[in-house]
Amino acid sequence: MDINGHNNLVEIYKNSIAIIGAGISGLALGIILNKQNIKSVIFEKSSSVSEYGAGISISKNGQYVLSELEILDNLKIISGNPQKAVFFSGSKKITSIESNVVTTSRKSLYDLLLNKYIDTGGEVCFDYELINVNNLNKMVFFKNGSSYEVSHIAACDGINSICRLRTLESSKPQYSGYSVWRSILDQKQQDINFHLGPNFHVVTYPINEKKTSFVAAVKKNKKHKESWYAKGTYDDLKEDIPQEILMKYKDLKVTNEIYKWGVFVRPKINLLFSENITFLGDAAHPIVPFIGQGGCLALEDSFLLGNLFSKYSSIKDIQINYQRLRQKRIQFVAKSSFNQGKLNHLKHPLLIFLRNYLMKNTQIIKYMTNKIWDYRPYL
Ligand SMILES: Cc1cc2nc3c(=O)[nH]c(=O)nc-3n(C[C@H](O)[C@H](O)[C@H](O)COP(=O)(O)OP(=O)(O)OC[C@H]3O[C@@H](n4cnc5c(N)ncnc54)[C@H](O)[C@@H]3O)c2cc1C
Repeated sequence: MDINGHNNLVEIYKNSIAIIGAGISGLALGIILNKQNIKSVIFEKSSSVSEYGAGISISKNGQYVLSELEILDNLKIISGNPQKAVFFSGSKKITSIESNVVTTSRKSLYDLLLNKYIDTGGEVCFDYELINVNNLNKMVFFKNGSSYEVSHIAACDGINSICRLRTLESSKPQYSGYSVWRSILDQKQQDINFHLGPNFHVVTYPINEKKTSFVAAVKKNKKHKESWYAKGTYDDLKEDIPQEILMKYKDLKVTNEIYKWGVFVRPKINLLFSENITFLGDAAHPIVPFIGQGGCLALEDSFLLGNLFSKYSSIKDIQINYQRLRQKRIQFVAKSSFNQGKLNHLKHPLLIFLRNYLMKNTQIIKYMTNKIWDYRPYL
């Protein structure tokens, strides 16, 4: 306490932007702010940045941001760099295209982002779980009893965002009708494989020279819990995905690390900010994970918002321009992701035939992916 009775601790971050969450958007935003000498501090609820047991693919739009953050080259060295994406209808090959994506483990990506954030002068407070915010008075409150006044709040706290819950809406997430299986397999794979339905799809890719990411989405009335850590069994998986596909991924039979969860959707938010809080990544726009874009959108958000902080001095100008630059893009990608789920899971034989025909005989895949991947986040 000072002589006026103020708690100095509460004010130590008064001139810093509080970034809530050391995930993809939070770390990327922190790096961009550091590069412009804008003070920030990240508050993360976990005791370390650890994202084991899952893969992530980064398309050209996300790679552009990683290259601006100067971590793309290092990421490529430790990742899988598939040359081809091969599409199957069930287990029968439809076609293949050249691949431009970096496929990696989440841990590799998070570690590189964290190291870069620290190297550029960043500070992360681990074991700081946000429980409340006051977006009028710029105050953040944590489960460990601490509270701070900050210069702005960047909500990067992911799909179950407390920032969003406390400031925007409290409506419950709804089950999307899809459940997803995931595992990291101890087996080598060169290409990306897509196995399309009916009623399911499976995506596998190398995350480095030795391991393969396996993700399977199933359309199901019975909902699973929305949990990243809920385990499933191979026997359950066999009920959802045909045996002839699972046989290609032999390690599934022996690994203990198979997880399953229900994909839930949240109401769309129309404004990406509210008073002194701005939303990024899944906290701003949780999308179904069928075109591998949630993380790439999070990178785009961080890149634009971070650069707007150095372009404008008023927070209102920053937020209005962020909204202007992001809203259309986010809506387009969210819609494309939802529609892709439907296309992947087609059941009617005629529609399946038509989809496969177009994929094989036209440039439709290239056209659709380029519309998403060719985006560059310019101010
Ligand atoms: C199965 C699946 C596959 C996917 N595949 C891809 C893909 O291939 N490519 C792609 O681009 N995207 C993919 N995504 C989406 C991607 O994972 C997310 O969109 C991305 O991680 C969002 O980044 P974020 O920074 O918003 O949140 P996150 O990366 O989830 O980070 C949120 C952080 O906030 C912390 N946090 C949460 N609550 C609090 C709190 N109260 N206080 C403090 N800290 C808190 C969390 O611990 C975490 O560290 C996939 C998603 C799923 C489910």
